[in-house]
Amino acid sequence: MKTTVVGAGVVGLACAYELSELGHDVTVVDAGAVGAQASAGNAGWITPFLSTPRAAPGAVRDAFASFTSREGPARMQPHLEPGFAAWILSFLRASSRKRNAAGTAALQEFSRGALDHFDALLDRGVSFDQYTDGLGVVFKQERNLEHYEQLAGRMRSLGYQGGLSVYRGDDVRAFEPALHRDIAGVLHLETERHVRPETLTQGLAKSLVANGGTVVEHDRVTTIRRDSNRGWLVATESGRDLRSDQVVVAAAYPTRELLRPLGIKVPLEAAKGTSMTAFGTGVAPTHPLKLYENMVACSPFGNSVRLSGTFDIGVRNHELNHKRLATVIRQGLSYLDNWRPTDVEVKWVGHRPTTVDDLPVIGPADGQDGLYVATGHGTLGVTLGPITGALAAREIAQGAPCKELEPFRLNRF
Ligand SMILES: Cc1cc2nc3c(=O)[nH]c(=O)nc-3n(C[C@H](O)[C@H](O)[C@H](O)COP(=O)(O)OP(=O)(O)OC[C@H]3O[C@@H](n4cnc5c(N)ncnc54)[C@H](O)[C@@H]3O)c2cc1C
Repeated sequence: MKTTVVGAGVVGLACAYELSELGHDVTVVDAGAVGAQASAGNAGWITPFLSTPRAAPGAVRDAFASFTSREGPARMQPHLEPGFAAWILSFLRASSRKRNAAGTAALQEFSRGALDHFDALLDRGVSFDQYTDGLGVVFKQERNLEHYEQLAGRMRSLGYQGGLSVYRGDDVRAFEPALHRDIAGVLHLETERHVRPETLTQGLAKSLVANGGTVVEHDRVTTIRRDSNRGWLVATESGRDLRSDQVVVAAAYPTRELLRPLGIKVPLEAAKGTSMTAFGTGVAPTHPLKLYENMVACSPFGNSVRLSGTFDIGVRNHELNHKRLATVIRQGLSYLDNWRPTDVEVKWVGHRPTTVDDLPVIGPADGQDGLYVATGHGTLGVTLGPITGALAAREIAQGAPCKELEPFRLNRF
């Protein structure tokens, strides 16, 4: 079976690799380099605990408040087109208590298998840098820690099984010496992990090629349409015509435009984030840390540390916003005692593909035999990329619906 995958981010590559494992002849095509968009400079956390939708009660209020503040973690850039207004309204509707509870339950259920799928990749020789130090959620204010302890109880009731520890007072720096003396406490999610995300996409691409697959870089897909003979034709800017029996569209936010001519609506918006990765001086953190009050992520990768953040809905440009990044760095460093960046390795921006209910879209396109969509993983593409790839590939290869993917079907919109 010949399959074309559009998009070489973590989601597209995981689908492509898993399909190649099942014997498909796979070509992945990307407008840029492998894994260079959202899947590059992110925090790299594999975090079942934090697998909850951003469409939540209070989310829009917070975004509007943040919109008026110069330093808030979330922002919104309104657009005049009707699709944007509809997206915001749908996001508002999906933020109700009831729908958020349903989305949280679905994501918790789905993410339960996430870690096993990373193990399965490593077992089959896919190479990437993975760290198993858990994830610390760090609080400056005691009341926020208390709120999180309640949240942990709720996650337990939804079946979260990972180990949890809480540190307060002197125990905070015994747990993580890099933290500032004023930190009120840390909730350690002991069994979460993180990866250096660039190594994950490179590892998947390498294993795909080793399985006989092909990766085409720097060639934007312009059209996806039915082939006159049979199957599908994916046409690219350079004039390539890729013919295949199946197409998987995993092009993140641009999936929306690619599928519109086929009459398929995928309500995606870009949520821009930014990061800096640097070597530094002082005591570097050894655990990945969610710096709670400022929503900044801190991820150590061997000798370097990455600080990432911002969730700017509707900001679709690819320019680095130096002020926004400087805020992320300053706020991130306020949680650390004396680690300071010296040599910057990379500054980055990327766009989280975000649906109106902040749940992914995974499944066949109704009435379009052989066309499959896998995108919209929002803040969770690393966590859920490998499990998405494995289940989607099984579904595509076997043609039988996979019940774990039911909450994420395209026809829910
Ligand atoms: C600051 C930040 C921190 C994050 N931290 C985490 C984290 O800790 N854990 C986690 O799980 N997730 C995290 N995320 C989210 C995660 O990065 C994304 O969910 C994930 O990378 C999305 O992967 P993707 O493959 O869907 O998209 P992408 O990586 O964007 O891949 C899509 C690919 O499609 C290609 N493409 C688009 N249009 C076309 C076209 N017309 N033709 C050909 N190719 C095309 C693009 O070039 C791109 O390479 C973070 C995101 C940000 C911004």
